[in-house]
Amino acid sequence: MQIVNWDIVYTSPPPVIRYCSKCGKKSEYISTSLFRVNAQRRYLDIWLIYKCSDCDSTWNMSIYTRINPKSIAPDILEGFLVNNTELAEKYAMDIGLIQRNGAQAGLPKYKILKSSIDFTVPFELHIKSPFPSRLKVSSILREILNLSQKSFEQILENQLIKSVNRLDLRKCRVQDEIVLIITECTDIKNAL
Ligand SMILES: [Zn+2]
Repeated sequence: MQIVNWDIVYTSPPPVIRYCSKCGKKSEYISTSLFRVNAQRRYLDIWLIYKCSDCDSTWNMSIYTRINPKSIAPDILEGFLVNNTELAEKYAMDIGLIQRNGAQAGLPKYKILKSSIDFTVPFELHIKSPFPSRLKVSSILREILNLSQKSFEQILENQLIKSVNRLDLRKCRVQDEIVLIITECTDIKNAL
């Protein structure tokens, strides 16, 4: 079967949605990609610093509290100290960490690197992501295949797009890899 790969590339991590006391409302906080490391006796506190997109108030997202520096791998510890961008992105993409800090993750910005599709034969579509995210698989499919909500519903009802792992394609969000089988491509092509 024809294999089609769509690779999601995140161009910015998700904003963190939380109440800003200066703005007096819930607002979006953006990662500065900077860490704050505080030493207290033999322990470290480590945060990732965010800024409110409206008023620049800062918010520190806790990564480690009172951790023994010896229990952190030396290269990771160095990454915190020099504000390594990849390390900052890793924490900024961590939805569980954001939630444990009492905030919500918004939607990351992304683009998709995709191979071309031959719609005359069925294909297996692999949607790959370096991180799980809040993006809905349905939004990506609709955007890339240029489908209205109505035609997307029809395609699902007629089972022209199916998830290999029987995920609910109306609700499921992006994971490491999602594999879909797309049959009757001419119908989808006609819906475009
Ligand atoms: Zn604010």
